[in-house]
Amino acid sequence: MIFALVSLILFLVLLIVALRVSLSKNKPEEEIAPAMIHASGIYSIVRKSPREIISKVKPTGEEIRKYLATVNVDIGKLPLLPADRSKLLNFWHQTLNENIQEIERGDKEGVEFYYYDFSRDCPVCTPHISKGQFVTREEIFENPSIIPPFHIGCTCKICAHHGKENLRDTTELGMRPLFNKGTPPSLPEWTTTVKLS
Ligand SMILES: [Zn+2]
Repeated sequence: MIFALVSLILFLVLLIVALRVSLSKNKPEEEIAPAMIHASGIYSIVRKSPREIISKVKPTGEEIRKYLATVNVDIGKLPLLPADRSKLLNFWHQTLNENIQEIERGDKEGVEFYYYDFSRDCPVCTPHISKGQFVTREEIFENPSIIPPFHIGCTCKICAHHGKENLRDTTELGMRPLFNKGTPPSLPEWTTTVKLS
């Protein structure tokens, strides 16, 4: 009887010790987890990959493929052959993916500003958007349609700004906000087609 009682007490003591050890292991994580969410502050929502929402604001590959099947010449009246059409469709997927990846990478690094650049001049984008115009991560979050490409054959890309300065205050040549007093610019129709050379 005494042996059983001692065994029980010993068991309980061991149980308490084990619980304390496991609690002390978990505790720091419990304390850190909410702190990390809190530390990311207002950007905790903003830093969500645009990958899901993008399908709601951009045409699907199928829509583009179907549309391209009806297009025989681009805006410069250059003829489109089947090979040109599939090249354009692949280019759309590739550039859209690259731009999303750039934002995802920027999110990991805590980038707040992004600017536009062109792998080569885009005649369609020129009246709407210029090289060096910038947007904030928050503006991208609220307006995912400002993620390029803007139309078929678009060479516009978005780049993370790695400088430390607040671009809203910068006088750097060519760096000006894309949004005019909070209003996004008009963007090209996605159906406007520029043949890839
Ligand atoms: Zn363009």
